[in-house]
Amino acid sequence: MKGFEFLQTELDEMKTQGTFRKLVPLQSEQGSKVTINGKEVIQLSSNNYLGLTSHPRLRKAAVEAAERYGAGTGSVRTIAGTFSMHEELEIKLAEFKHTEAALVFQSGFTTNQGVLSSILTGEDVVISDALNHASIIDGIRLTKAARKVYKHVDMEDLERALKESAGYRVRLIVTDGVFSMDGNIAPLPEIVELAEKYDALVMVDDAHASGVLGKNGRGTVNHFGLDGRVHIQVGTLSKAIGVLGGYVASTRTLIDYLIHKGRPFLFSTSHPPAVTAACTEAIDVLLEEPELIETLWENARFFKEGLQKLGFDTGVSETPVTPVIVGDEAKCHQFSDKLLEYGVFAQGIAFPTVAKGQARVRTIVTAQHSREELQEALDLFEKAAKELDIL
Ligand SMILES: *Cc1c(COP(=O)(O)O)cnc(C)c1O
Repeated sequence: MKGFEFLQTELDEMKTQGTFRKLVPLQSEQGSKVTINGKEVIQLSSNNYLGLTSHPRLRKAAVEAAERYGAGTGSVRTIAGTFSMHEELEIKLAEFKHTEAALVFQSGFTTNQGVLSSILTGEDVVISDALNHASIIDGIRLTKAARKVYKHVDMEDLERALKESAGYRVRLIVTDGVFSMDGNIAPLPEIVELAEKYDALVMVDDAHASGVLGKNGRGTVNHFGLDGRVHIQVGTLSKAIGVLGGYVASTRTLIDYLIHKGRPFLFSTSHPPAVTAACTEAIDVLLEEPELIETLWENARFFKEGLQKLGFDTGVSETPVTPVIVGDEAKCHQFSDKLLEYGVFAQGIAFPTVAKGQARVRTIVTAQHSREELQEALDLFEKAAKELDIL
C-alpha cells in the first residue's frame, strides 16, 4: 500500500547507519538462560531481577485464578471491572510501601501518565530530572503545568529550579528512584530535604528499585529511611514483581482523586484475574523469600566487579543495572550481535533511549543466574570486545 514512503525513508537511513533493529523473539520462558534462534543463551537483558516471571508460586496463583475467575474482567475498574482481588492487591501494596493506600494501573507507563496528567494544572510546576524515564516525560507533556528540568542528580540545579518557581500553587519534584539506563540511585535524602525547605511535593518512580532496594524490596524510599516523607511512590509490577502493571502508593486523598481523574485508570480495562493474583502472590514471595534479593545483589556485585576488572566502562552504576558503555551506536549493536552469536543475550541500547555517543550494552543480572553462567558471560564479553577493539 502506498502512503508511508515518508516513514520508509527514515527507516532506510537507520539501516544505512546500522541502527535499525529487529525484535528478538524468545522461544522459551524467561530465565537465566533463554532460547533464541533455536539456541540456548545466557539472558542478561531482562528486568526479571528475582526470577519471579516463572516462580512456581506465581504460576500456580495465575493458573488457579484463571480457572476460578476466567481470562478477563470485562470492564474498566470504575464501571464493573473491580474484583475483590484488585482491592486485595492494592491493600497489600499499600502495606508493603508503608502508605495509606495504593492504586493499580495497567502498566508503570500509564501510571506515570495518569498521575502526572491528572493532578497538575496550569497554576503548578513540575521539576524533573533530565534523565527521567520516557513515561514521566510523556506524563509531563500531558499536563498544563509549567516544566523545569534539572541536570541529572544535580542538587544545586534542583535548588535553582525550586528558587525560580516560587509563585506556583504546587511544585512537584519527580525523579526515577534507580535510573534505568545507568543503574545509579537518585539522591533521595537530598531531594527530600530540598523539597521540605521549599515546600514542594516529591514523586519517585521506583520501577527499577522495587524488589531490589529497601527492606524486602520496598524501594528507594524505604532504603533511605524516608518512609512518610515522599508524597508519591510509583512502582511497576512488570519488572522484579515479574508480571504486568503499575501502581501508585500514597495518601487516601491522592488515591481517591486518581480513581476519579486518572484517565488510564478510568478508560482502560482492569487486569485479568491471572495477572492480579500473580502480582499479589509476588508481594508475599518478597516478604517470605528475602534470600532472593540477597542472591540478586551477590550476583550483581560479582558481575559488575568482573566487568570492571576486564577494563569495561560501567559508568556510575550502583545497582544490578550495569551498562557496558561503548559510545558509538553501530559498534554497540555489533558488540551485542557478536555476544548473541557467542551465547549471551545483552541488548545494545542507543539513541533516543540514551544520549547520542553514549550507546551501551545494558546488562541486568538476576537472582536466577549461577556463578558459572555469570563467569561464562564475562569470558564471552572479553572475547567479543577484543575482537571488536572495544577493550
Ligand atoms: C520500565 C519503567 C517504567 C514502565 O513500567 P512498565 O510497567 O513496563 O510500563 C516506568 N518507569 C521507569 C523508571 C521504568 O524503568
